[in-house]
Amino acid sequence: MNPEEIITGLTAAQADGLACVICGLDYLRTRGSRSVPVGRSVTGTQVFACVGRCAEAAGVDPTMTGRRAGGGCQ
Ligand SMILES: [Zn+2]
Repeated sequence: MNPEEIITGLTAAQADGLACVICGLDYLRTRGSRSVPVGRSVTGTQVFACVGRCAEAAGVDPTMTGRRAGGGCQ
């Protein structure tokens, strides 16, 4: 998976980048966590996964650091 890859089968929140595409964690309601972009939804919005295991599961370099606040399930 790469940051420009289109990811299908997402929920509305995942497709909007508001939830982890791997574990479904709600970033809006989870403080102090971090996420990294892992691809795009079918509508072209950027989608995210939690830094750590989720990013790794999504095929993103696990050493990549978070780019924004919100999200995370380590
Ligand atoms: Zn996650």
